[in-house]
Amino acid sequence: MAAYGSPLYIYSRAEIEANWREFDQAFGDHPHLICYAVKANSNLAVLNVLAKMGSGFDIVSIGELQRVIAAGGDPTKCVFSGVAKTRSDIQQALDIGIYCFNVESAGELDRIESVASALGVQAPISIRVNPDVDAKTHPYISTGLKENKFGVDIEASRALYHKAQQSDSLNVCGMDCHIGSQITEVSPFIDALDKVLNLISQLSEDGIDIQHLDLGGGVGITYDDEQTIDIADYIQAALAKVGELEILLEPGRAIVGNAGVFVTRVEYLKQNDDKSFAIIDGAMNDLLRPALYGAYHKALAVNENSTGVKDTWDLVGPVCETGDFLAKGRELTLAQGDYVALMSAGAYGFTMSSNYNTRPRVAEVMVSGDTHTLVRKRETIESLFENEFTLDT
Ligand SMILES: *Cc1c(COP(=O)(O)O)cnc(C)c1O
Repeated sequence: MAAYGSPLYIYSRAEIEANWREFDQAFGDHPHLICYAVKANSNLAVLNVLAKMGSGFDIVSIGELQRVIAAGGDPTKCVFSGVAKTRSDIQQALDIGIYCFNVESAGELDRIESVASALGVQAPISIRVNPDVDAKTHPYISTGLKENKFGVDIEASRALYHKAQQSDSLNVCGMDCHIGSQITEVSPFIDALDKVLNLISQLSEDGIDIQHLDLGGGVGITYDDEQTIDIADYIQAALAKVGELEILLEPGRAIVGNAGVFVTRVEYLKQNDDKSFAIIDGAMNDLLRPALYGAYHKALAVNENSTGVKDTWDLVGPVCETGDFLAKGRELTLAQGDYVALMSAGAYGFTMSSNYNTRPRVAEVMVSGDTHTLVRKRETIESLFENEFTLDT
């Protein structure tokens, strides 16, 4: 901490690699591609570690595609998800050459066709089917229900595939579904799988050949003491149903979530009659999940020999919002100047961070073996307003 300052994200290369390998190895010889979901943690060093292992990537913007390329990743192993792809996004992805577009609406399919036709190329497409299953997760991260904005209704998908098959500018290659995030039971995945396999066999009868099935991401991790999915069991259960189909997965959280911690320092201890606050230097702008979803991150006091005060603390940050807390009601022994590690912060931590309250985004460090390396430097305050201008008069 002395070398890098506080607050700080710290990632473990070994953990990222082990998590990715667990997915990869569960497939054995079955044709597959693990497309790490870049939005979970898009630091170039993280992407580079995965690229070196041969990972594919799930991207949701051209910015993420450029990151993958800058990190040494292979764009031809990228699937492009996201509901709002612009003409320019589509054109750039076609110029670069990606594995396929995960198409989220009829309008997007038309747009991809029109851009590909203008460029005189064939666009590889997979339709994101919304299987209308309840992933039993937080409503903000549930995506596979009819009421969600993602994907195409399963009934409407069949007609859309027919339309795509007719076009010379589209190459129908796959089907995908992603039903949500932090899913802790296999059954919603299998329910979704059964529905999309049914559609694939209908399409096969219609003469439309689907070559890959992308089951999305969403495998949950243990933040506290939740039981979650055994990855090998999930993949075995899926492989038992899919025949020869190539399978893609888009795990994000399950690869990086438990490979990262957020470390923050105790600035003040403030004990009222019925509340004890540890005021820390990290805040909701650095780690948004508690404020956004009421998410739980385990908090560990880093200084084991603390001579501090044992109490039940709310860990609150400097941002001027009552929602600015990172943890509530935690029994810890704390003194001013101690560090606290918020665990399981490797996914949707830094990538969701902002400059709210003109707070520079924090540094990121990766531990690899017995070395540690700065992989993103702390932002400077000047850099936060370098793109702003005052009026002349
Ligand atoms: C967010 C997202 C993922 C990754 O989800 P995790 O829960 O982090 O595994 C995968 N695919 C799509 C389309 C997503 O939107």
